Amino acid sequence: GQCSAHCPTGAIVEADETATAWNFLRGKENFTVVQIAPSVRVAIGEEFGYEPGTNLTGKLYAALRRLGFDAVFDTNFSADVTIMEEANEFVERFKHGKRELPLITSCCPSWTDYMEKLHSDFIPNFSSTKSPQQIMGVLAKTYYAQKMNIDPAGMRMVSIMPCTAKKYEITRDHEMFASGFKDVDVVLTTRELARMIRQAGIDFRHLQDHKADSFLGSYSGAGTMFGTTGGVMEAALRTAQFILTGEKMPKLVFEEIRGLEGIKETKVVIAQEEIRIAVAHGLGHVGEVLERVRRAKATGEEPPYHFIEVMACPGGCIGGGGQPYRVTDAIRKKRMQGLFADDRDKAVRCSHDNAEVQQVYNEFLEKPLSEKAHRLLHTTYHARPVYKK
Ligand code: SF4
Repeated sequence: GQCSAHCPTGAIVEADETATAWNFLRGKENFTVVQIAPSVRVAIGEEFGYEPGTNLTGKLYAALRRLGFDAVFDTNFSADVTIMEEANEFVERFKHGKRELPLITSCCPSWTDYMEKLHSDFIPNFSSTKSPQQIMGVLAKTYYAQKMNIDPAGMRMVSIMPCTAKKYEITRDHEMFASGFKDVDVVLTTRELARMIRQAGIDFRHLQDHKADSFLGSYSGAGTMFGTTGGVMEAALRTAQFILTGEKMPKLVFEEIRGLEGIKETKVVIAQEEIRIAVAHGLGHVGEVLERVRRAKATGEEPPYHFIEVMACPGGCIGGGGQPYRVTDAIRKKRMQGLFADDRDKAVRCSHDNAEVQQVYNEFLEKPLSEKAHRLLHTTYHARPVYKK
């Protein structure tokens, strides 16, 4: 229901949809694929006795294959695609004056829903790029299906996500069906996946690491950071720098926007221009940042920020309501460190350097913000009424 879809703390338990996923896996005519969100890999271990923050990507791929998925994809790949679109949107606004600043990130469906109901004056500021979950779904049923000669009508996309708001996102608007098929068919939380792994009798701790499937499986360090507060912004800045200067960023890490402080700010100079950044997580902090922008607007001042990242949950998706229970700030920090370590260990740390991302643009999407990218990878927002009892 509406409440459980928007409960950021997970105090209201999700409707169990594991039966739907089992039915897809049993259906012989289906080609059932799966994606795992960035933050799931550093949290699911807590269900199997690991330290919080342990990165279990390889074991997760292995477990998903054992469950019977026909292909295993990684939402970190589509997070890289989201960055390609969003960083280009930012540059269009910042450099070419197209549309309003600040640009505000929109990959968190709790936040977009809240904004559409309570802050709809910010609709023009929203990034129109779909979230990584939706982009993975639509690319699987178009690009991947064409490449592999699979009928998308028989394809079922299951997402493993950190929250219940992602269950609502898949039917948010008609754009979530832009290819003619539903981008994503069912969403399971981290806890629901752990339940399926136990139901199947899989000995998770003894699984051998596996790899994800090609074309929609490889990811950069930027993609994996999507799961934590500050991570989307760092990822976007790496690629925005490349677009604005043609050079790779000498500095990949932005300490000022890491950590659990509710509102984080920094200024970055790219191509001699100062970009003012804010990162807010937890909806109370978001309200404060928006107020600052509104006040500047009302007095005709320059906007205090050019680019704002928002995530509804404290800590971002690593602290999502569908993650293992009993989260504390100490656990959030460990999960966050797990993602930053994954980034640090990657040879490729920028979305635009991901070879599979370059391939999907060369073979299918043409370029960021192309007509096709707009049709499949972007969405719109609308003011929505708030119903009161
Ligand atoms: Fe879901 Fe992440 Fe948003 Fe929390 S921050 S509601 S986990 S998308």
